[in-house]
Amino acid sequence: MMTLGILGGGQLGRMLCLDARRMGFRTVVWSGTAKAEPTEGVADVLLKRPFDDHEAFAEFCSLVEVATVEFENIPLPTLERVEATVGLYPSSRSISTCQHRSREKTFLREHGIPCAPFSLVNSLDELQMAYDEVGPLAVLKTAAFGYDGKGQVKVTHGDQLEAAWKSVAGEPSVLEGFVDFTCEISVLVARGADGSCRAFPVAENEHRKHILDLSIVPARVPEKTAEEARAIAIRLAEELNYRGLLAVEFFVQKSGQVLVNEMAPRPHNSGHYTMNSCVTSQFEQQLRAVCGLPLGSTELLHDTVMLNLLGDMWTPDLKRDAIWRTEGAKLHLYGKTTAGPGRKLGHVNLVGGRSVLERARDLKAQLLG
Ligand code: AMP
Repeated sequence: MMTLGILGGGQLGRMLCLDARRMGFRTVVWSGTAKAEPTEGVADVLLKRPFDDHEAFAEFCSLVEVATVEFENIPLPTLERVEATVGLYPSSRSISTCQHRSREKTFLREHGIPCAPFSLVNSLDELQMAYDEVGPLAVLKTAAFGYDGKGQVKVTHGDQLEAAWKSVAGEPSVLEGFVDFTCEISVLVARGADGSCRAFPVAENEHRKHILDLSIVPARVPEKTAEEARAIAIRLAEELNYRGLLAVEFFVQKSGQVLVNEMAPRPHNSGHYTMNSCVTSQFEQQLRAVCGLPLGSTELLHDTVMLNLLGDMWTPDLKRDAIWRTEGAKLHLYGKTTAGPGRKLGHVNLVGGRSVLERARDLKAQLLG
């Protein structure tokens, strides 16, 4: 029985462990934190110790045959040591490119991949120059550890630059031109050990308070736009010499053309629809790519809408009756016991029958009401 090592103990790790167990694999999770509720009782072994703990490193490597990540913000030295000892997919190099906005953007630019105009900034003077280049509407984003709109500030006038610079605490950042997009979409692509690639159907993503709210699949974009996004995702996986699962987020412009927003070197919230609606789930596909198995079919079996269950739906508890009553609502909970307002506690996939989008919006209203 093969044992897969997973760095990170959040919900993506949980869902990977569940698929791994179903497929007869063992899992060892190294959470890097003392708390790892989602993987508690789901991983075969759970190491709740920091990523710089040498004993945890030795134990992890002695137990696993190969390793992967379920979130990208793991210290690079840890990734490199795991890679040198047991093998890590995606590689530390690929993860490091996606970890840091400035490396990611530079990679996109060097490979001629369409993205919003940007400039790297390390000081208020550089911010001023960058604003002259990409303004007047721009977004300042910290280069490291940003997600769900954290570490971001919109700039609409030159007199806001000093305040914007303060709000990112003078950290190395990227100033991006503001994109007037019609919608946001994402593509999950897997690249296997033999270099073959398979992209999943395109998801259309709606956000609520900067956090993913709904993923609508298939995305309501022209076929040409969907094809372009899938082709770019595959090209990125190839250019990165990637092995594993890669998520790519895009802005769709009025012209129908797409711009890459960002990449994540792991399964993605917008890929949860695959769990009930594709021949292969994104987690099974990650496991297949990482463990050197042939990739599975990414065929979509039916239209789906994924609704994220965020902390504000616990008032004080989730109205589960509304979910049980909703036709084709498949509930996935992450085993978290406390509900902060923006916390992701689970999701529901709406499948089959009459309009899945209508049912998703109905259910959401009930859960928030
Ligand atoms: P990010 O963390 O970079 O994915 O940004 C979070 C959200 O902010 C995105 O999903 C967009 O809705 C919005 N956003 C980020 N960058 C831009 C941009 N350059 N132009 C317009 N909206 C943006």
